Amino acid sequence: LTPVPSDIEISRAQTPKPVDQLAEEIGLLPEELEAYGRSKAKVRLSLLDRLHAQPDGKYVLVAGITPTPLGEGKSTVTIGLVQALSAHLKLNSFACLRQPSQGPTFGVKGGAAGGGYAQVIPMEEFNLHLTGDIHAITAANNLVAAAIDARMLHEATQSDKALFSRLVPSVNGVRRFSPIQISRLNRLGINKTDPASLTPEEISTFVRLDLDPSKITWQRVLDTNDRFLRKITVGQASTEKGQIRETGFDIAVASEIMAILALADSLEDMKNRLARMVVGTSRSGEPVTAEDLGVSGALAVLMKDAIKPTLMQTLEGTPVFVHAGPFANIAHGNSSVLADKLALKLVGRDGFVVTEAGFGADIGMEKFFNIKCRASGLRPNVVVLVATVRALKMHGGGPNVRLHLSPSNLSLVAGGCHSNLRKQIQIAHLFGVPVVVALNVFRTDTQAEIDLVCQLAKECGASDAVPCHHWAQGGRGSLELAQAVNEAASRPSNFQFLYNKEKIRTIAKKVYGADDIKLSPEAEAKIDYYSQQGYGSLPICMAKTHLSLSHMPDKKGAPTGFVLPIRDVRASIGAGFVYPLVGTMSTMPGLPTRPCFYDIDLDPVTEEITGLF
Ligand code: ADP
Repeated sequence: LTPVPSDIEISRAQTPKPVDQLAEEIGLLPEELEAYGRSKAKVRLSLLDRLHAQPDGKYVLVAGITPTPLGEGKSTVTIGLVQALSAHLKLNSFACLRQPSQGPTFGVKGGAAGGGYAQVIPMEEFNLHLTGDIHAITAANNLVAAAIDARMLHEATQSDKALFSRLVPSVNGVRRFSPIQISRLNRLGINKTDPASLTPEEISTFVRLDLDPSKITWQRVLDTNDRFLRKITVGQASTEKGQIRETGFDIAVASEIMAILALADSLEDMKNRLARMVVGTSRSGEPVTAEDLGVSGALAVLMKDAIKPTLMQTLEGTPVFVHAGPFANIAHGNSSVLADKLALKLVGRDGFVVTEAGFGADIGMEKFFNIKCRASGLRPNVVVLVATVRALKMHGGGPNVRLHLSPSNLSLVAGGCHSNLRKQIQIAHLFGVPVVVALNVFRTDTQAEIDLVCQLAKECGASDAVPCHHWAQGGRGSLELAQAVNEAASRPSNFQFLYNKEKIRTIAKKVYGADDIKLSPEAEAKIDYYSQQGYGSLPICMAKTHLSLSHMPDKKGAPTGFVLPIRDVRASIGAGFVYPLVGTMSTMPGLPTRPCFYDIDLDPVTEEITGLF
């Protein structure tokens, strides 16, 4: 339709096919499906065993140039591309997307189901709650936080003997260690299974985690942009006996448990990673884990359904996995390894799995390669780099647009291509993967602007560059892109990792274009500590603004001549990465003066949601 109706009107005008019908079409057995309502279902991981001998399909990553705050259309391109591949070129294809966080949905950016005629439907189910995975993550994360503070209180107020008799209760006159306690004893070097045989010193070592309150790295989480929780004081009720300390909240999608969900490749792997999570340091300098707190089994229980990807569909009825949703600027920004692995088996050798990495290629794509591909062992065939005329104009020196109103201006567009687009293509080439540039066309783009971007993208090294009209036309508007991707995927890709050593400096210089890095004394001390603890070989997950290649959000294009400041360094040992905090990056976003929720409403009679786009 012209003009294109609102996202929610388009979504509602299309009745999704029943999810069991979709599942049958893509080769799932009824027992591999757990339906959540009519149009979405979780898929059991036993599918991986059934299909293990099946060859994988082609693996395509959708990344982008440095975006405006509104996003340049990576989700819509991802969906438009699978619609074109499946419905029009008749090639099996699957989209793998992240589950959106309530932060952007109610904050600045809105939902993440795509838009126009390239959407996942029903979009309101996709954008809100879905199958509850983020709630499960929040519950698991905050159980750890509660366990930490309760344990410190109990240790502060009880003798070794009292703690021991409560931690190892006597049942019918017999005390027994639980499996999780035996595991802790083994790690402490106390190889005894009979509680009665422990010496008083061993009892003391066993019952006291002796967490240093100033070295607790675990924060509480919430899936809301609630900036007033960035720093809080807990323990102020008299019942907590003066155990007051400062802590804070992160947004749930930046949590380590979210990262684990996205990186685990089986239930067992997830359970082991949850157990390994380091929550802080003891007064003697030893890391304290979730397993030490005795909580890791309960975490696996809370997360047992979340580990199964959720099956949904595009407007044109092609399959989509929605699974995990780590933010790309303050986490690793990619959907789950498991969803990609399942989808690659389901599409078969000639099929395509299209997965999306958050924000610009310097952020989501770099982490896709260096973190996700390292964990999964999967290797991508093609990178699709999404650009828009509006963002290119901004990088070429135009205003930092919030609305798409700027008049045609070929010199600004050329400036953006020669700076940001060129740099982002070069970053993909550092990893040896061919790049197809997808120009996401907006109504106001002129033909001369479109032609110029496609010409300059190829001059900057892209193997192809095509305009995409999926937002206005659905899959048929992305046919040229589908053909370009199909062609690029048939060529060899020479994938390589970017770094092994000197990781932070390598990313800063080679990816962001910095002259060097500057570590704060705190960051330097943390790096030394993590190296001493044996975590020095873990990959790096930079927490950096997505609005610039540098740490300064207002520096557009491809900035040079800057030194990247590393304020602090934290570690997610269970997830398996170390994350430097660059500049002033915060792990809990805030709400703007007029957030998206002003426009979101419910009609109590028809139950129709309005304002969710
Ligand atoms: P990203 O995934 O890069 O963050 P999205 O695909 O979510 O970006 O798109 C951001 C917003 O822009 C969505 O609301 C989407 O509907 C809208 N949008 C994307 N492409 C177009 C287009 N070509 N014309 C108009 N609006 C668009």
